Amino acid sequence: MGGPITRGFMTEEEKAAVPKVTKGLIKRVFSYLLPYWKQLLLVLLAIAVSSVLNLMPAILTGKIIDEGLIGRDLKLLIIFIVALLLTNLAANLIGVLESYINTWIAQHITFDMRNQMYDHLQRMSQKFFTSNNQGDIITRMTSDIDGVESVVTNTFKSILSNSITLVFAIIAMFQKNWILAILGIAVIPLFVIPTRKAGKTRWTLTREAQECNDEINGILNEKLSVSGQLLVKLFCKEKEEMEHYRDANSRMVKLNIKERMAGRWFFVVLNTVTNIGPMLLYLVGGILMMKYNSTLTVGDITVLVALLGKTYMPVNSLLNIQVDWMRSMALFTRIFNYFDMPVEIKNAKEAVTPEKTDGRVEFKNVDFSYEPERQILKNISFSLESGKSMAIVGPSGSGKSTIINLIPRLYDVCGGEVLFGGEDVRKLDLSFLRKNVGVVSQETYLFNGTIRDNLLYAKPDATEQDLVDACEKANIYDFIRSQEQGFDTMVGNRGLKLSGGEKQRISIARVLLKDPALIIFDEATSALDSISESKIQEAIDPIIESRTAILIAHRLSTILAADEILVVKDGEIVERGQHKDLVKLGGVYTELYNTQFKRIAEE
Ligand code: ATP
Repeated sequence: MGGPITRGFMTEEEKAAVPKVTKGLIKRVFSYLLPYWKQLLLVLLAIAVSSVLNLMPAILTGKIIDEGLIGRDLKLLIIFIVALLLTNLAANLIGVLESYINTWIAQHITFDMRNQMYDHLQRMSQKFFTSNNQGDIITRMTSDIDGVESVVTNTFKSILSNSITLVFAIIAMFQKNWILAILGIAVIPLFVIPTRKAGKTRWTLTREAQECNDEINGILNEKLSVSGQLLVKLFCKEKEEMEHYRDANSRMVKLNIKERMAGRWFFVVLNTVTNIGPMLLYLVGGILMMKYNSTLTVGDITVLVALLGKTYMPVNSLLNIQVDWMRSMALFTRIFNYFDMPVEIKNAKEAVTPEKTDGRVEFKNVDFSYEPERQILKNISFSLESGKSMAIVGPSGSGKSTIINLIPRLYDVCGGEVLFGGEDVRKLDLSFLRKNVGVVSQETYLFNGTIRDNLLYAKPDATEQDLVDACEKANIYDFIRSQEQGFDTMVGNRGLKLSGGEKQRISIARVLLKDPALIIFDEATSALDSISESKIQEAIDPIIESRTAILIAHRLSTILAADEILVVKDGEIVERGQHKDLVKLGGVYTELYNTQFKRIAEE
């Protein structure tokens, strides 16, 4: 058996991690219980009744001894035994009812919380998802909210039932004999102090276990994902990853054992103390009976001893609950911290929803930074007329993707404004804006499902003909037709059963189905083979001609198809114009042309 962990004090850091249980926090926690007040009332009643019923055996035993056995009254003896049986049965039946309602309430509260969390997370900006650990997000959604369920079914219930039992037991003891009642209760402080100390230790360990759990979730999320596994395999890191995981896992085991064993020695002390109580009662009760002619009976003393046991148990549980209580409050605090993260990108109060938009785009002196200390875009101004197309080119990391992220408001500008259809994007209704801006991103993402599912994601009511048309335009229909299952071909996890080029073209078809006023095409930097390349080119050429489009271009053919070229470097527009003019300038574009576009075109 492991030894006790008997640090009697908490470090500053540990104290800081103990959640501040404020009135506001409690109020907020109870706001989740409020909708179920009727059921809660019922549970409260059930707990009160079963707590009282649980005290009955102790009281009836006294009657069995005094009136039945010592009084030699068989009839009374049988009546009391039957009463004992019935109260027992009733207590158990009420217990079943109470645990049903309790579970029902807990499940409904976590249902509400999970939905609220999912809804909230979906409204968080891209920044939240790029800067937060996915493991943490999943932990909040799963273990933390599961924890809430146990708070409702165990902690709250335990606090209620133990408090009620304690109060009734003490009242019953005082009714029997006040001297013995005081004597029995006087022992209680002896085990309050050690239990509190053990509680603090357990709390610290609980927190460490929580952090370890977050870490394990993080490992699983990263390393067991498709891309993670690919990396692990290609770099032959299986052994290191296994060790990393085993290390975290074994830390978790040690922490769990420590937590379970924490304060085990205190329980030895506790047991001794709880045994002293009854001994004192027998002794003092005996003296009162024998020397002072007290009216106390053998039955009375037996009842008092039994009741004393019923007071020690709840006191002990209530003291131990301190840890569960702190853990619960920490759980709620963590969940509420997530709820309190502001939704940075949301509809303006009086957001406008125009009838139609022509898809024209204008940037007016736009500044932007992801983090305050590093400016990414500086004074970007340009305009794109309806029906025209624009290619944005520039070295890697120059800010091209950032520019287009500002149009569907994945991020908001830090200075200046972005206009869509002549209106500041921040004033437009967010769904209207995003419905009218279609993005084919560099990293094509397809959900696990069929090609049809992925296409219908853009337009759930699309007819078969719509699908065929869009796929023909995206130059992917021949491929789909050649598949045995056609549109019902499974694409695999994240679409990984398809080639890069096929995925790109399916995502073009998906955007075409959405039929937005503006199409943004973030050309993949990764090289595709020349056949895939030309198929994509064939797909986007007519799109560029007939629609308002912005292209982040890495290939000469795409650049040449655009009406205007914008050259970006270090977050600034350094050149703009037509290919033939830019090439002659001898600046950034010429360099890009010589080092990148020309080579790819020649290849
Ligand atoms: P590429 O051609 O390689 O895709 P790009 O021109 O599109 O590059 P951006 O993706 O816009 O470049 O990135 C511009 C700068 O912003 C880069 O230096 C990058 O490190 C930084 N950056 C991009 N996304 C984030 C983010 N979410 N948080 C912080 N910095 C970011």
